[in-house]
Amino acid sequence: MYKTKKIKIGNIFIGGGEPVRVQSMTKTKTIDWRSTVNQIKKLEEIGCEIIRVAVPDMPSAKVLSKIKKNIKIPLVADIHFDWRLAVESINQGVDKIRINPGNIGSRENIEKVVIAAKKRKTPIRIGVNAGSLKILKKSEGMLKMSSLQMAEQMASEIMENIKIIERMNFSDIVVSLKSNDVQTTVLANQLVSQMRNYPVHLGITEAGTEFPGIVKSASAFGILLNQKIGDTIRVSLSAAPEEEVRAGWEILKALGLRKRGVEIISCPTCGRCEIDLIKIVHQLEKKLLATRYSLLATPLKVAVMGCIVNGPGEAKGADIGIAGGKGFGLLFKKGKPVKKIPQSKWVDEIIREIKNVQKKI
Ligand code: SF4
Repeated sequence: MYKTKKIKIGNIFIGGGEPVRVQSMTKTKTIDWRSTVNQIKKLEEIGCEIIRVAVPDMPSAKVLSKIKKNIKIPLVADIHFDWRLAVESINQGVDKIRINPGNIGSRENIEKVVIAAKKRKTPIRIGVNAGSLKILKKSEGMLKMSSLQMAEQMASEIMENIKIIERMNFSDIVVSLKSNDVQTTVLANQLVSQMRNYPVHLGITEAGTEFPGIVKSASAFGILLNQKIGDTIRVSLSAAPEEEVRAGWEILKALGLRKRGVEIISCPTCGRCEIDLIKIVHQLEKKLLATRYSLLATPLKVAVMGCIVNGPGEAKGADIGIAGGKGFGLLFKKGKPVKKIPQSKWVDEIIREIKNVQKKI
C-alpha cells in the first residue's frame, strides 16, 4: 500500500497515514494583512486546515510573520519567480513554502532557497503546473501532447527538481502536479508516486467556477485518493474561498475519508412527491450553513425524502429523517417514527432536532 513520508507543517502533520487535509488559499491582497487574517479566521472556523497566501513582492513577504501570529492553522507562502521572496518568507517563520522551480530560475536560486529552508526546518512544496512546463516555453509543437506525454513531462521536470533538493540532503518535501485536465493530473501524480514517497498535494488548476470546478476536482481526487495518492487537497475555484473548503470536505466525506458535520441525504423527487421538497432541502441547507450546524465536528446524517416509497427506508437509516406524505412528513429519529409534521414546519423542526442531538453529544 502506498504510504508517504510524514512531515510536520506548523502544528499538524501531513502524510504517513495522517488524515487527508483540506487546504485553501486566500483571495485578499497579502500586503493587507488584516483583511488576510480576517479571511483566514473565517476559513479556520469552517474547517480549513492549511492556508496558502500569495507572496508577489517583498512588502507582502514582510507581513507574513504578522499574519502567522494572528492565525491558528499552518501558513504556506506561495512564491513564483523570485528566490529572495522564498528566503524572506522562510525567515518570517511561515510553516511551508510553495515554489515552482520552473520559474524560480537557475539551480543556484533553488539551492539558496533550500539552504534557508534547511536552517529553519521549513518544508518545501515543489509545485509543477502543466502550464508552466519548461518544454512548453521552448516549443509550440509540444502543446499538442497527449495527456500521458504531458504527465510524463511534468513528472520528469519535478523529478529534476526533487533531485537537486535531495542532493542537498533535504527531504521535507511535498509534491504537487497540477493541470486543468483531469487525466493529465491523475497520470502525473500516479507516475511521481511510484518514484518517491513524499506527501502529495492534490489540485486541479484553473478548475473554473463552482459547478465545473468541483466536478473536475472530485473526479481527479476520487481516482487518486482511492489509490491512496494524496495527503492534502485544495479545490481551486473561481469563487469565495469558503466554497473551496466546503467542497474539499464534501469530497472527503463522500469518499469516506473524513467525517464531519451534517450530511443531508435527499431524494431527487419524482411524480410521486406531494411536497415542495427541492425548496425545503435548499432552505434547510441555507439555514444550516448560516448557523454553522452543517459544519460542526460531530457527524450527523439527516435524510429528507419526498414520499413513502423509499422515504421511510432512507429516513430510518439516518440519525434524523423525514419522509413526505401529502402536506405532512413523518419524522424519524434513529430509525424510529416519532411524529407527523406539517410541511411548513419541516425546516425548523429538523434544525431543532439537530440542535438537540448536538447538545447530547
Ligand atoms: S423518495 Fe419518493 S418522491 Fe423521492 S424520488 Fe423516491 S419515489 Fe420519488
